[in-house]
Amino acid sequence: MTAADILNNGGVVAIPTETVYGLAASAFSDDAVGKVFVAKGRPQDNPLIVHISNIDMLNEVAMDIPPSACECAKRFWPGPFTIVLKKTDKVCDSVSRGLDTVAVRMPSHPVAKAVIECAKLPLAAPSANISGCPSPTSANHVINDLDGKIDAVIVGDESEVGVESTVVSLAGDKPVLLRPGAVTLEQLREVLPDIVVDSAVLSEAKGDKVASPGMKYKHYSPKTTVYLVEGDGKAFADYVNEKQNSAAICFSEDEGIKIPFIVYGSRLDESTLAHNIFGILRDIDKENYKEVYVHAPSKTGVGLAVYNRLIRAAAFKVIEL
Ligand code: AMP
Ligand code: MG
Repeated sequence: MTAADILNNGGVVAIPTETVYGLAASAFSDDAVGKVFVAKGRPQDNPLIVHISNIDMLNEVAMDIPPSACECAKRFWPGPFTIVLKKTDKVCDSVSRGLDTVAVRMPSHPVAKAVIECAKLPLAAPSANISGCPSPTSANHVINDLDGKIDAVIVGDESEVGVESTVVSLAGDKPVLLRPGAVTLEQLREVLPDIVVDSAVLSEAKGDKVASPGMKYKHYSPKTTVYLVEGDGKAFADYVNEKQNSAAICFSEDEGIKIPFIVYGSRLDESTLAHNIFGILRDIDKENYKEVYVHAPSKTGVGLAVYNRLIRAAAFKVIEL
C-alpha cells in the first residue's frame, strides 16, 4: 500500500516536511483526524493545520479569502508559513475543534507535496510527536515517539528549518502573528504593515479565549528541567559553572563553560539554532541531568521562533543575569 492509499482509507502517516515531521490524515475525515489526536495524546481543543499543494485546494478548505492572504501566499508559499482563514463546511470539525476558522499551509518539501498530490486530499497534520515533547526533526524522532501507534512513516531527510511554521491569522480585523517561525516578523511587516504580535508569543497564554489554543500548553519539553538564561557569554558561563548534575546548551561563541555542554550554533546564525534545537533537547534526555540551562537567543529574525519554543520548553522559567 502507498501512503496515498493509507490516507484515502482513513489511516495516518508521518511525513517529512521542511519545518518538522508531520502526522498526516485526511482533513475531510473526522475518523482519520481522531486517530491523530489519539496517537499524539493531543489536547482536544487544539486545532490542526491543513496542508495543501495548490490554490484550488485552498478554495476547497477556506472562504472569504482577503487580498492580504493572496499577497502572503504569493510571497511565502510554498514554505514554512500558515494562514488562519474562515473555514468551509468541507473541513471536518475534528480539524478546527469548534472554531469557524482553519489554518492552512502549502509546504515546499518535495515529499510532503508529492503525498498531498498523490492522495488528492488536503492533509491535516500536526507535528508527529507525543504532545508536549520536543517536535520531531528526523524519522527516528517519530519512531521513538509513535512506533506502533500510527500506520506508516515516510523516512526522509532531517527537517531543514527545524521549528514549526509561522502562523498568522487573517480572519479578523487585523493580521495577528500567532506563532513565530522561519518566515520572520520583519518579512511579514513588508506585506502586512499593520500586523500585531499575539501576547502568547512571548508569554504564557491562559484561559479559554486564547487566539491560538496550542499556545496555552506546556510544550516542546524534554524530561530534564529546562531553564532559559539571558545574559552575555561571561555571565552565562559563571552562572552555569555553579550548577551540579546539570548541562548547558550554548552558543559556539561561549567560552569557559566547565559543566557538560552542547553547542546549538552561533548566536548570530538563528537559522542554525532553529535547525538544531529540538534534536538537542531530545539528546539531553539521554543523559540523566537534573537541569539544563539554555543560553537564550535574540528575539529578532528566526531567533524569535527559537525563543518562543524555548520559553515553553522551560515552562516560562527565565533567568535574567
Ligand atoms: P502544530 O500542529 O503542533 O503545528 O500546532 C498547530 C498550531 O496552529 C497550534 O498552535 C494551533 O493552536 C494553531 N492553529 C491551528 N488551527 C488554528 C485556528 N483555526 N485558529 C488559530 N490557531 C490555530
Ligand atoms: Mg506540535
